[in-house]
Amino acid sequence: MQLFFHDVGLKGANEDFPKTVFDNISIDDIVEHSPAELKDEISQTLSAEFPSGFCNAWGVPDGAKSIIKHLNTNDVMLLIKTTGGLGNMPALCHIKGFWRVHMPVLSKFLWGSNHFPYVFFFKTQNIDLTWFQFKEDVKFRPSGNVYRVREDRLRHFDGVEGYVNQLLNKAISVTNVLDLKVQENTQRYEYEEGERHTKEVNYFRRNSKLVKEAKEHLGFVCQACGFDFEKVYGDIGKNYIECHHLNPLSERDEDLTSTINDVCILCSNCHRMIHRIRPAMSIADFRKIIKSNLINIDDGWPLN
Ligand SMILES: [Zn+2]
Ligand SMILES: [Zn+2]
Repeated sequence: MQLFFHDVGLKGANEDFPKTVFDNISIDDIVEHSPAELKDEISQTLSAEFPSGFCNAWGVPDGAKSIIKHLNTNDVMLLIKTTGGLGNMPALCHIKGFWRVHMPVLSKFLWGSNHFPYVFFFKTQNIDLTWFQFKEDVKFRPSGNVYRVREDRLRHFDGVEGYVNQLLNKAISVTNVLDLKVQENTQRYEYEEGERHTKEVNYFRRNSKLVKEAKEHLGFVCQACGFDFEKVYGDIGKNYIECHHLNPLSERDEDLTSTINDVCILCSNCHRMIHRIRPAMSIADFRKIIKSNLINIDDGWPLN
């Protein structure tokens, strides 16, 4: 996994992020505007990666060719909206499809201009990162429009993967819950919620040792609300608790190894609810929601 960034600039970001970074594009549309010789391959790859039939996309200009030729599937691109003030880097793109060829027709279709012919595909992860913080993290002042961050710059984060995981874990703010209101009743949303649940179930099936370890270390009391199945249900509830992965990226990515620090244990209600929040939320922030809603309940609630 390599880390890149693209300094898009405020004007371009304001105009174009809403089109393809913060909105979904249908794979059918992408395929229709792709080079003829690649249509089949693009269709197959994207359909396999994004079973919902939708994904996000971004493109870089021809001038970035020398950097972008190093870009591979599974790399991560951070998009910079502005470096002014503290700066704003709102989007993390974990790349699931990239073909190193010019796609001017697709560029024109997506952004109304053929100036961004190197197009890549991903599901946008909203992150909370400033340019100021990023420069601190990589301990230098990178320059250039599109740039690849050398792995050794991120050694103190255990490399690119460690850094990306950290960005995803701290992302998350309660404000994201507001976006949820808009989405919650759409069919696709329900679908994606189910999709993540299935991925997580499969992930834990493959990593049963992690589950065992998590239960041994974390016990059987919900880390979000304090619910204890055994206390309420007696023997039937003994040793029952659900495992939740804090980083949805890992669920689909065999290369990212998880430790007990990447999982938590939740009761069924909390687990169900936390999956409704996009992007993934830390338990600390999730608890804030519960607490803020339970201000008037003073008795009988297990939250500690
Ligand atoms: Zn709970
Ligand atoms: Zn979960």
